[in-house]
Amino acid sequence: MDDQKVSVKEIRQNENRFLSSDIFESGQYVFPRRNGEGVLREEARDIPVYHRCDVLVVGGGPSGTAAALAAARTGAEVVVLERYNHLGGLSTGGVVIWIDRMTDWEGRQVIRGFAEEVLGRLPPEAVAGPDPSLWGVRDAELAKYWRLRTSAFHGIVTWAPTIDPERLKLTSQEMLIEAGVRIVFHSLAATPVVEDGAVTGVIFESKEGRQGIMAKVVVDCTGDGDVFARAGASFEADIEEGDVHHSMNTGFMLGGVDMETWLAFRSEQEQAFADFNTLGRDTLGFFQTPYVSWRNDIALFLGPRQSGLSALNVDDMTEVEIRSHRFMQSHCEFFRSHAPGFKDAYMLLSAPQLGVRHTRRLAGVDRVERSQWPEGKVLPDEIGVSPSVSPKFPVISVPYGALVPARLNGLLAAGRHISCDANSHGFMREIPQCWLTGQAAGAAAGVAANRGVAPRDVDIAELQAVLRAQGAFVRDASEARSVENKAETVSG
Ligand SMILES: Cc1cc2nc3c(=O)[nH]c(=O)nc-3n(C[C@H](O)[C@H](O)[C@H](O)COP(=O)(O)OP(=O)(O)OC[C@H]3O[C@@H](n4cnc5c(N)ncnc54)[C@H](O)[C@@H]3O)c2cc1C
Repeated sequence: MDDQKVSVKEIRQNENRFLSSDIFESGQYVFPRRNGEGVLREEARDIPVYHRCDVLVVGGGPSGTAAALAAARTGAEVVVLERYNHLGGLSTGGVVIWIDRMTDWEGRQVIRGFAEEVLGRLPPEAVAGPDPSLWGVRDAELAKYWRLRTSAFHGIVTWAPTIDPERLKLTSQEMLIEAGVRIVFHSLAATPVVEDGAVTGVIFESKEGRQGIMAKVVVDCTGDGDVFARAGASFEADIEEGDVHHSMNTGFMLGGVDMETWLAFRSEQEQAFADFNTLGRDTLGFFQTPYVSWRNDIALFLGPRQSGLSALNVDDMTEVEIRSHRFMQSHCEFFRSHAPGFKDAYMLLSAPQLGVRHTRRLAGVDRVERSQWPEGKVLPDEIGVSPSVSPKFPVISVPYGALVPARLNGLLAAGRHISCDANSHGFMREIPQCWLTGQAAGAAAGVAANRGVAPRDVDIAELQAVLRAQGAFVRDASEARSVENKAETVSG
């Protein structure tokens, strides 16, 4: 079983999709299942109700943490259920410590609210990024400097810092505890309770066995739509070979490095860097260069990306883990031998959480779409604003309808599985956007529970007022000045 057998193709990036990915044939490392003809019948049984609450947030990643806090601040009694031992999801346990852009191309921070608050509470040494005075600056030297450090794109300095994942775990946890949220770790939501077309709770599995939590509103923040899919909501689950969109990998960090030496090499020795990449590809087959982290002595690897596999298939997931751990070792050895700044590198940590970009996306009452990018229209049910993918597009209005299932009641979705097309998913799945939709879903769930209305019937003006009071940036469609935008002709 060697990587020579693996078929690899690459698809070039374009305006709609930003990154390509290596494609792998599955079944390389996992033995075939032997399930014969058999099925088992699970006996019906009574299970204890663990707790009853106003708002149950399932999944404690970026969206779930923001949702739980926002819901608690409406006065609702909130539980967050998380299968692992920490909050932050991929942004901590997945070592996705590069928080993508929160500013527009003029340098104005448009993803605010929870994003601003949580980053503001991290100790200064836990956040590495440009000073606010630099956001939006179009200076070639500064842009070059920050591009190498995750925070400049299209020649413009932006706000896209790297953070210390342990600090983010701790800060997230303390913020929820202060707000009175009940955190339940080590608990996997297994089956939603659905009554008369509405989700009214969740059955979960833990070391205590199988128990239920009942809630007035459930917010699905599992990233994979586990709750809404099992409750019967419609969703999309596309897999496009060669696109980063759905690809997986386990992120990892190498310690003992000198990233300033590495960055000087990659930016000042163009030919040597190109030769290094060629040697890496030739030697390892699948090759990834590192990103900076919040410390000079830690390098971050968020690839090689593996496509053509499903994060809803446990054998594919196992295979990605096995391959990623091997990649970590081979990259460590290669970089130690060949990369300036890496002679003392060691394997610091492979992420405890598998890096999944996409599995399911909700079919909502509305969705974020590619056709929306050039319009710049402020939607009447705007719950926040996303930066656009390039300066040729204005910022993008995120509608409440993207969080509301087309038919299922009692549930809202937030995070990387919200209702959007595959192109828009490229940015709507990023951590700041997950904070944004999480905060909005949590606030809406709190309002719905407090008023005794269905999430789809929440008064938009009230929701927007709650979000603004919580520091979110939400525009008012009726007052919006014309955003006949700077969009040039859009191709593709
Ligand atoms: C390799 C990689 C690189 C990336 N790079 C960037 C980047 O540079 N910048 C950026 O901003 N974004 C990046 N992203 C995207 C970003 O990390 C994720 O899309 C984002 O973290 C999603 O947040 P979320 O809350 O929707 O879900 P997750 O972060 O996936 O969190 C979901 C949480 O729910 C829990 N959970 C899941 N199912 C259950 C269940 N059934 N019961 C209980 N708990 C459950 C999980 O344990 C997890 O803690 C990257 C993603 C990957 C995979």
